[in-house]
Amino acid sequence: MKSNFEKEEPERYIRQSTFYAIGKAGQRKLTTSRVMILGCGGLGAASATILARAGIGHLKLVDRDFLELNNLQRQILYEEHDVKEGLPKVIAAQRQIERINSRVHVEPFVADVNRFNIEAFIEDVDLVIDAADNFETRFLLNDACVKHNRAWIYGAAIESYGLSMNIIPGKTACLRCVMDSIPQPGSVPTCETVGVLASIVCIIASIQCAEAMKILLDNKEAINRSLIHIDIWNNSFQSIDIAKESIQKNCPVCNQHWFEFLEGKQGSTFTNLCGRNAVQILPFKEAPLDLAKLAINLSELGIVRVNEFLIRFEIEGYELIIFPDSRAIVKGTTDAGIARSLYSKYVGN
Ligand SMILES: [Zn+2]
Repeated sequence: MKSNFEKEEPERYIRQSTFYAIGKAGQRKLTTSRVMILGCGGLGAASATILARAGIGHLKLVDRDFLELNNLQRQILYEEHDVKEGLPKVIAAQRQIERINSRVHVEPFVADVNRFNIEAFIEDVDLVIDAADNFETRFLLNDACVKHNRAWIYGAAIESYGLSMNIIPGKTACLRCVMDSIPQPGSVPTCETVGVLASIVCIIASIQCAEAMKILLDNKEAINRSLIHIDIWNNSFQSIDIAKESIQKNCPVCNQHWFEFLEGKQGSTFTNLCGRNAVQILPFKEAPLDLAKLAINLSELGIVRVNEFLIRFEIEGYELIIFPDSRAIVKGTTDAGIARSLYSKYVGN
């Protein structure tokens, strides 16, 4: 059985190995490569299907969420029956990849990525595809990848626009080089509040996967060294130059090896509120929030009551109480991961 499969392998990938930059040796390299996809929402689902079809040997999928009907519009790996079964995204993804390419080894983790587990997650992979939905996780990933010299590929998509950038430690600028700190809570729109088109999700994931293959094959000439910004509704395609020279002399991560997110000196903190089935989220830096504006956005999505002191927002069977200093209490759970996920979905990073 195995020898038959091996005979079929060259045939399966022939359109890819015929491409001059890959070849048979490149294809063999891809089949022994290990890639982690952090997040299995829109970007992660698209990357998983492309990389599985491309024959990446090992895919580590990490995501903490379960499937919902509104995911199917853009999360191209999933189907209605996955939603009906209420499957975690990584389990549905594993089953689907098994049907697409049974030779790919998928390692699914239903987990919240945090500073205590991220180093173990990236330890045995060649690179990480960022498909996270919040900047705090990306800053944490940046810390861990620079510390352990792993390439990662930033990706984000919202409304009709998206961004991507390669971060190769020591060779390109890192996320902290180009972005000094996490955007203030409430200042960045989320897919829940402004929506997102499947087209831009698939474009950004496609760019990430092409860059992943270049990096895995060490095709230095071809690796993109720009920040890519694409808006498919407003017809804008930009490539913003971020060469090695742009590595900031004072970057705390690249140059000072000061990993504040990994060490818990930056980022939000969580407190279980004893006996109350609730978690309090304290952003690391207090950042004033425009309650009235946030209340208007949230009122499209769930039940909102607002006064000058707080917003009470009911969604997905939970209640978020959001304060003007960007602190929040998430009622209905004692799980910090669920609380953070709700916070980043509805309040922002
Ligand atoms: Zn840096």
